[in-house]
Amino acid sequence: MIPNRTIIERDQAMLWHPYTTQKGYLVPIALTQAKDTLLYDSNGKQYIDAISSWWVTLHGHSNAFIAEAVYKQMLTLAHVSFSNFTHEPAVDLAESLLHILPPNMSRIFYSDNGSTAVEVSVKMCLQYWWNQNTPATRKRKKIVVLTDSYHGDTFGCMSVSEKSTFTHAFQDYLFEVIQLPRPDTHTIQDSINLLKQQADNIAGFIYEPLIQGAGGMKMYDASLLQELLLVCKQLNIICIADEVMTGFGRTGKLFASSYMAEQPDIICLSKGLTGGYLPLGVTACTHAIYKPFFTDDRTKTFYHGHSFTANPVGCATALASLTLLRKEETMRNIERIKGGIEKMVDWLKADQSLPFINVRSIGTILAFEVADSNHNYLNPIAPKITAGALADGVFIRPLGNTVYLMPPYCITDDELNRVFECFKKIPVYLQK
Ligand SMILES: *Cc1c(COP(=O)(O)O)cnc(C)c1O
Repeated sequence: MIPNRTIIERDQAMLWHPYTTQKGYLVPIALTQAKDTLLYDSNGKQYIDAISSWWVTLHGHSNAFIAEAVYKQMLTLAHVSFSNFTHEPAVDLAESLLHILPPNMSRIFYSDNGSTAVEVSVKMCLQYWWNQNTPATRKRKKIVVLTDSYHGDTFGCMSVSEKSTFTHAFQDYLFEVIQLPRPDTHTIQDSINLLKQQADNIAGFIYEPLIQGAGGMKMYDASLLQELLLVCKQLNIICIADEVMTGFGRTGKLFASSYMAEQPDIICLSKGLTGGYLPLGVTACTHAIYKPFFTDDRTKTFYHGHSFTANPVGCATALASLTLLRKEETMRNIERIKGGIEKMVDWLKADQSLPFINVRSIGTILAFEVADSNHNYLNPIAPKITAGALADGVFIRPLGNTVYLMPPYCITDDELNRVFECFKKIPVYLQK
């Protein structure tokens, strides 16, 4: 270490940040600590974490209850391979999750993050058909996806995601999918017809229920998704709900899938699973999905796993987070934030002086577009808004011209108001 170099200088000499243009871009801010909704930098400046650190932090930062669970587990059993061993945190967490997930879920497969949870779900779905080993089931190979979907950054995940700035360089290596428009009243019948025509070749349908996150916080109707799910069920198409972002209260219910009568066959979870404290992924499935894997034929085993599958500390952290989530106080907070956000939507819609369109919300998520014909992720207004808001002590990170709010559940009304004031200043940030 060269003395007297700042942490930023050392960072810039060595590190490569995710989703960050490396040259001449916003320099990262060096944080020293965080508590509840607030991040503190090395100059003591505070920032409201208005997007829950990329949608993971449910209960705010540096939570003592979660920290204690981590510490205790670390001293008891930090890690062991999950092929020949099992342990209480993994079993307890599976039990807790199955208790709150839709009632048709019956098996829990652990992995490390959202992308691995999705990767596992797609492989499970494909092998479910392959294992049945009949001419008809071996034809079930295609995955159906929605426009503007985002399911993660590994190759399988990129294949089932919208082809975009994120995936261009890898286009030639991604497998073919069937793409349906995000459900709306004009196209739903065509989508249903296409599913019916293609069903013999379709293995599964993967979707972000009710709100598509990285694709631009695009929201759609539960009744339309219900129609699609119903048709999929009739056609034996495996339904995979990617609840990596929507899980654990984000949409106002514990899982977005609960808004529909028809339930998925597979559910992917991560992000809020550990309250944002440690990386962990879960792929839950029904007994029907599990059945073709329950066989003496060892060629039909699910040969997938990661070094840190079912990491005991991750599982213990998730258990602690779930305990906090299910407290009445947290549920009340989710309702309070939902109410606050609904008011914000009304105010933002009513204020004609603001250049905002499509102001919308679901549960604890608010989103709108800054009127601008450029809907691309690379829209240069995004970093301008981020920089302006950071200067005002609010951390937001627009997706192109889509601005959104997704706060930790401990955010106070006063902090919510400060974020709201920051939104109203966006036209000022854009003049700089
Ligand atoms: C973030 C996200 C993922 C990927 O999760 P990572 O942990 O970042 O790999 C997958 N699906 C959805 C819906 C997401 O929002």
